[in-house]
Amino acid sequence: MSINIAIDGPAGAGKSTIAKKLAKKLGFVYVDTGAMYRAMAYYFLQHGIAAEDEKTIAEACPRVEVTIAYEGGEQQVILNGENVNGVIRTEEVGNMASATSVYPVVRTKLVELQQQLAAKTDVIMDGRDIGTCVLPGAQVKIYLTASSATRAKRRYDELTAKGIVCDLEEIEKDIIDRDYRDMHRETSPLKQAEDAVLVDSSELNIEEVVEAIYAIYEKAEKEQKQ
Ligand code: C5P
Repeated sequence: MSINIAIDGPAGAGKSTIAKKLAKKLGFVYVDTGAMYRAMAYYFLQHGIAAEDEKTIAEACPRVEVTIAYEGGEQQVILNGENVNGVIRTEEVGNMASATSVYPVVRTKLVELQQQLAAKTDVIMDGRDIGTCVLPGAQVKIYLTASSATRAKRRYDELTAKGIVCDLEEIEKDIIDRDYRDMHRETSPLKQAEDAVLVDSSELNIEEVVEAIYAIYEKAEKEQKQ
């Protein structure tokens, strides 16, 4: 049986950075489910489909094929045969992903793919509903969070380092809006699974978070062996 680690939490809590490092340390495969929602969102944007147009989105879904490949250990998202990794990290695509991931038709498609991946491989999967819906039987569940101010500042520093001019207040507002949408949608809202361990990264650096989650994993492993 494969081992599954689920990491959920709001945007910008550091899930992907932490999950990538932890996957390397444990020799697991890292699955970034947000990238899959972003790929679908990218398709809708490319085809001029509005986020509110659920009917057209439902009609388009069968024409959208999202798959995952790995290149040098890095996850690549393939959208209808095209690698879209380089174009899905923008704020525009992120906001569209948040708006269109509310639709059950979008979620059902991607959850199936995520469950197939986790059934055959040891994975660390991050997202919003991994511990609650996608992998309810995961051996380790983490809810990783940080204050909205901390998350906004991290995103601001990231963008500024890339030479992108941005506004800290606007970034925090976007984060708060996105949290609200992710937490209040009807289908699979973002919430901490009952059996998930809460890790707040506001006052921790990356290595400290990796170590904290690694310790939770080791403890769970020991308990399962007993
Ligand atoms: O994590 P990331 O910011 O890349 O995710 C983009 C959006 O995709 C999130 O705001 C969320 O609305 C959606 N998402 C989701 N369920 C997941 C992963 C992401 O609804 N498991």
